[in-house]
Amino acid sequence: MSAGRRFYRIDYRGTPRHAIEADGSWRLLEGDLFGAYEPGEVVSAHDHRLLAPVVPSKIVAIGLNYKDHAAEQGKPLPQEPMMFLKPSTAVVGPGEAIVLPDGAGRVDHEAEVGVVIGRRAAHVPEQAARDYILGLTCLNDVTARALQKKDVQYTRAKGFDTFAPVGPCIASGLDYRGAGGIPVEGWVNGTRRQSSTTKELVFSIDRLVAFVTAVMTLLPGDIIATGTPAGIGPLAAGDRVTVKVGGVGELTNPVSAAARSRGAGT
Ligand code: MG
Repeated sequence: MSAGRRFYRIDYRGTPRHAIEADGSWRLLEGDLFGAYEPGEVVSAHDHRLLAPVVPSKIVAIGLNYKDHAAEQGKPLPQEPMMFLKPSTAVVGPGEAIVLPDGAGRVDHEAEVGVVIGRRAAHVPEQAARDYILGLTCLNDVTARALQKKDVQYTRAKGFDTFAPVGPCIASGLDYRGAGGIPVEGWVNGTRRQSSTTKELVFSIDRLVAFVTAVMTLLPGDIIATGTPAGIGPLAAGDRVTVKVGGVGELTNPVSAAARSRGAGT
């Protein structure tokens, strides 16, 4: 990862643009976030709506990667990472609503550390994983729990539109290999429901990069959702759910019911 910077994506006068936060000020990013760029015009952090910081081609999510969450799900620890895909169309940014699908039953929050890939990555050795990571972000792996239990695989339960809030930024240069780990928390309506750190991961971030890229190529902007700790729980319309990742910030999304009039032809 590059030295400590935060990368945001903003609605800049109707156009999505990346912005770099460094030394307390924001500047438009001129060039390619994943290639050559330089900081440009200074912009106000408060005048522009935040968007999801990347548009991934895919999200590769890891199940049962915290021991306490596997226990609360009543499942044995996996012998190797258990992965599934969330579609890019599920991504929403900070402040955008998580929409509860009609008839889906229980829908849960899952606070996770998202690993944003910085360059094309295939067959990456574990020892080299860090070179392929742009930075970390907050991700909510929203899950229709009843459908997850009902279906053989997770595509429906994990794949609804709005089920992958990401943001508010990508933080580079964080010491995710450090002894303390990266803190991750999930909050609902101001109450902390999940709290752990990446040192509790069953499979480390570097191990996940190696494991996933042994299967499929990860493209710049793709995200690995590293799993959720214990404390997952149901969401209801009107809730506000927040994912906090140490060194990244907070990602808050309101929860709303599906509009029953949707598709009514007006
Ligand atoms: Mg998850």
